[in-house]
Amino acid sequence: ARLLPKGAVLFGEPLSKHTSFRIGGPCDYFALPDTEEELANLLGFVRQSGLPYYLMGNGTNLLCADEGFAGVVIQTARLNRIMAEDGGVYAECGASLTRAAYEAAAASLTGLEFAHGIPGSVGGGTVMNAGAYGGEIADAACEVFYLDPAGNRFRVQAKAAGFAYRSSRFQREALTVTAVRFKLREGRQTEIREKMADYAERRRTKQPLDLPSAGSVFKRPANGYASALIDACGLKGCRIGGACVSKKHAGFIVNTGGATCRDVLALIEHVREQVLKQSGVLLECEIKTLGV
Ligand SMILES: Cc1cc2nc3c(=O)[nH]c(=O)nc-3n(C[C@H](O)[C@H](O)[C@H](O)COP(=O)(O)OP(=O)(O)OC[C@H]3O[C@@H](n4cnc5c(N)ncnc54)[C@H](O)[C@@H]3O)c2cc1C
Repeated sequence: ARLLPKGAVLFGEPLSKHTSFRIGGPCDYFALPDTEEELANLLGFVRQSGLPYYLMGNGTNLLCADEGFAGVVIQTARLNRIMAEDGGVYAECGASLTRAAYEAAAASLTGLEFAHGIPGSVGGGTVMNAGAYGGEIADAACEVFYLDPAGNRFRVQAKAAGFAYRSSRFQREALTVTAVRFKLREGRQTEIREKMADYAERRRTKQPLDLPSAGSVFKRPANGYASALIDACGLKGCRIGGACVSKKHAGFIVNTGGATCRDVLALIEHVREQVLKQSGVLLECEIKTLGV
């Protein structure tokens, strides 16, 4: 039997087409499962065949190698159903966080406003415990559905999901998130929408949304902000090849055109060295890499 329907596997697909950095060479197989069952079967097959694989959501926190990836990239974009439920929202892993926030707003449910404008998927956001403006996935999720590397199905209460700052059990144990149930509170729709609009406006004024990037490159260090430390080193506008420390937000590295993965990695190392020298803080990367 076919693992996936016709057209659901692309060969030699450039990863640059699927990452917000617009960087990354071709992967051998780019698979687009449509259902949880297809995803589970695919994981089981890939594991048995010994092929390397990688889960990709919306590719907004991901730096892919210029050489690409000799294996299977499984992208979750087609698993994107969202349903409003009593007191919450159920969303499949490939649904966008912004759409989930809109769905909650439409049902007058509060608690997901922070996710509006985070450009990732529900799965990627859960694995990363994405957050903004005082909220994070750990606060809003109540139940997470996932697959182990063999494709077996499980579900776990959010409080047992090992959420920490930009981290989760799913990330640490290489588990595949298939869907998330968010538990939200009833609110006033106008207030919910105002909050979302306010967050979007703050992003527009503070972040370089006109250029390809993967958001904040570094995790927040114990005391303070990575962007402030980088700015204090005078690194805004510092460039290697096509990669540049954003002049608008020092925590972002932007692709100003033709940046390679190598450019970005070299710039990351330069920034880390300078910040360490000047402030004694060793910045840790938030973005993930594939094939590097
Ligand atoms: C302009 C911009 C602004 C951003 N602002 C924020 C912000 O405010 N807050 C914030 O936290 N982040 C922010 N980000 C980063 C990014 O959007 C988040 O980390 C987001 O949650 C990543 O989701 P994704 O679907 O794009 O994941 P991807 O980049 O595709 O993947 C990220 C990681 O998750 C894994 N993964 C993805 N889906 C699954 C799955 N279903 N199961 C298992 N593993 C999976 C991948 O293997 C990878 O390790 C921003 C990025 C950009 C470009």
